Amino acid sequence: MATPSRLVQLHCPGCNAQFWVIDSDWRGGGIYGAKELTYPQREYTCTSCSRSGSGHTVITQGPPEFLLQPHEGCPMTATDFEHWVGVLREHFPDHPKLREVGRTFFPALPGPPSLTVEMWEEEPGKSPRCTLDPSADQVADWLARLGPNAHLTLEYKHGLKLTVTRSGSRTFDASCADWRTVIAAGTRLPEDRVRTAIGHFLSGDGDGCLWAIAPVTPPGSDA
Ligand SMILES: [Zn+2]
Repeated sequence: MATPSRLVQLHCPGCNAQFWVIDSDWRGGGIYGAKELTYPQREYTCTSCSRSGSGHTVITQGPPEFLLQPHEGCPMTATDFEHWVGVLREHFPDHPKLREVGRTFFPALPGPPSLTVEMWEEEPGKSPRCTLDPSADQVADWLARLGPNAHLTLEYKHGLKLTVTRSGSRTFDASCADWRTVIAAGTRLPEDRVRTAIGHFLSGDGDGCLWAIAPVTPPGSDA
């Protein structure tokens, strides 16, 4: 098995310049009888002097989980993810993942397992009800029974807050806010989109929740 492709910054022994490649630490050729090569043994072409050959040394490497995001088992902070997207954009401007940033390519954030989620339901003329740390099934159940103009609110203490309002028989308005301001808002969302947002919210993936409500368009995209 090859290990995941990652960004690798190499030093050119010919001109001392640095350049980036995307390669695997372990290419997995060994299982087919090919010799597994270390980075200095592999041949690369320098982007500065065009020298092709071996002898390159590794200066820096991006995290192996970066190009695998979102990966629940190997989460990344949004800051780290943005940093490596910047490196990818600078050195591999045609990389297909760049077109997917914010769509299918976004970080699984490190979860806050110790945090408590409060779920509130407020409906005009009824007393609000609340539960702590609801399961996804419980939220789906409350969502299905949500009356017209009733609100369902999920909230981390001092953290992200997701508010869902029924806007039609099969649609919902949703907004996601941090402790200061609304970050994402969507109207007339189908129930499955709202459920996806809730799933991300409950697993601590705040960014996934935001993207489910209001997919962001990556800068430079025509869409
Ligand atoms: Zn060179």
